[in-house]
Amino acid sequence: MKKHNFSAGPCILPQEVFQKSAEAILDFNGMGLSILEISHRSKDFIAVMDEARAIVKRLMNLNDDYEVLFLGGGASLQFAMVPFNLMKENGKAAYLDSGNWAANAIKEAKKLGAVDVIGSSKEENYSFIPKIEEVGAEYDYFHCTSNNTIYGTQIKDFPKANTLMVSDMSSDIFSRMIDYSKFDLIYAGAQKNMGPAGTTLVVVKKEILGKSGRVIPSYLDYAQHVAKESMFNTPPVFAVYASLLTLQWLENNGGIAAAEERNIAKAKLLYDEIDRNPLFECFCVPEDRSLMNVSFKITDESKKEAFDNAWKAAGINGLNGHRSLGGYRASLYNALPIESVQVLVDVMKSI
Ligand SMILES: *Cc1c(COP(=O)(O)O)cnc(C)c1O
Repeated sequence: MKKHNFSAGPCILPQEVFQKSAEAILDFNGMGLSILEISHRSKDFIAVMDEARAIVKRLMNLNDDYEVLFLGGGASLQFAMVPFNLMKENGKAAYLDSGNWAANAIKEAKKLGAVDVIGSSKEENYSFIPKIEEVGAEYDYFHCTSNNTIYGTQIKDFPKANTLMVSDMSSDIFSRMIDYSKFDLIYAGAQKNMGPAGTTLVVVKKEILGKSGRVIPSYLDYAQHVAKESMFNTPPVFAVYASLLTLQWLENNGGIAAAEERNIAKAKLLYDEIDRNPLFECFCVPEDRSLMNVSFKITDESKKEAFDNAWKAAGINGLNGHRSLGGYRASLYNALPIESVQVLVDVMKSI
């Protein structure tokens, strides 16, 4: 029986994506070949890459000022690529320290130059989003993490940046209606809400590239990937294909607007139970709660074993919190049906 999968990443994808991916591994497009054994330069794969790049812009409502790349190296490589490409020699960047991933991004940027952490909730165990109204023009760019996967917090109102606006959207990409054109660079590891592990989406405004004055190793240079239409080297072929299937599923099911409605309903169902039930409590402040990752704890440790046994018996998977925080985390990514959330809520009521 298929589990109710609340895993934080790699995560649940639509069942039809698993089905079509499996078919493509056995016989891609009726070619008599697996997608795993064809050239990335073949016309069938180039069509996959072209459509994957196009559908991202359609879903995000972005014009041709933007380029879409599918790279390797995970979101973690972007922590280094962003400063290499955007931080000028002797320049400085502003970062928001809203969680572990944000802190990792800061660590990498500091290796290349000056970083001002203009807001941090680290001392309060990242239980809220530091509030920043405006970011000054003295910075080469501003970097924020739109959704903090571990702590279950999400930026609702992005600050006004008088400089380039960069965001790590790994865990809430394509989950809600935001004005993506406010950003100059967006990146996201596919495995949180877009596809399987192995590729990272980068959406970048062309005009910001080539201005850092740095010598950039070729693979780390966005401009090289743009010039080669995301085929600078062998791309992560299968991960790009499965991501395309997921994005097609999203587009065929009402796009981001409809996904957001479903995500709001799922999150409300779970948060309402946490607020109603004295046995459970969120880690973060109510106003910064994430629609994607609900991190919570149990208030009576003597009931922990009963709860753990009950959710496992109900066919739930991936509910344990991140090892740095403990407790529980229910990830409600786009492909998770509301029926799975109802199963979890019923278990919570029963303890
Ligand atoms: C998971 C995650 C990362 C790290 O992604 P990798 O692809 O494993 O490098 C970075 N940022 C956020 C917000 C994440 O959730």
